[in-house]
Amino acid sequence: MPENVAWGLQALGRLIGVRKQLVLTDVQVNDYVRKLQGQALENTRVVRKEHVQSLEKKAVAKTIVPYPIRAVPAESTSCPKCGGEMVKRTNRKTGGTFWGCSKFSKCRGARKTA
Ligand SMILES: [Zn+2]
Repeated sequence: MPENVAWGLQALGRLIGVRKQLVLTDVQVNDYVRKLQGQALENTRVVRKEHVQSLEKKAVAKTIVPYPIRAVPAESTSCPKCGGEMVKRTNRKTGGTFWGCSKFSKCRGARKTA
């Protein structure tokens, strides 16, 4: 790891501790602090919620689908055991999805989702 990169607060403290050269004057530091505080959001529940929603919207907008979602073959819509209709279900333990027979629990027919 480069010497100016720290992992964890203790390492960061050591990294800062060895720096003795003054880079900014007190006046400059106070100026930056004032500028940063001027831009800080008000720390209220409503403002935090709006901020998070805004970030989520931006994240969704940037999300790129890495590969086209494959079309589900028509055969997946019928149960391999009884020929009944299949519905998309979620495995509660793994979170994975699969096609399960709509007549569950009388029929336990299932298919993997494509
Ligand atoms: Zn079935």
